[in-house]
Amino acid sequence: MSEAGAQVCPICGVKILKLIGGDRVLFSSGPPGTRSLLWAKVCQYTQKPGCINQNGGSGSTGQRLP
Ligand SMILES: [Zn+2]
Repeated sequence: MSEAGAQVCPICGVKILKLIGGDRVLFSSGPPGTRSLLWAKVCQYTQKPGCINQNGGSGSTGQRLP
């Protein structure tokens, strides 16, 4: 219930949870994924102002898996 730190992209409608070790993206259907997956599936096609995931998942978050 408590979803502090969760963001919802008003353009794509997906929810992004800020988690330690990397953000978790909750799609309206299907399993959760990553910001880069969200970019690949949704955001790269929309590219509208207001999208909170416009950078393709790379950049400031600095999530890098070993
Ligand atoms: Zn978006």
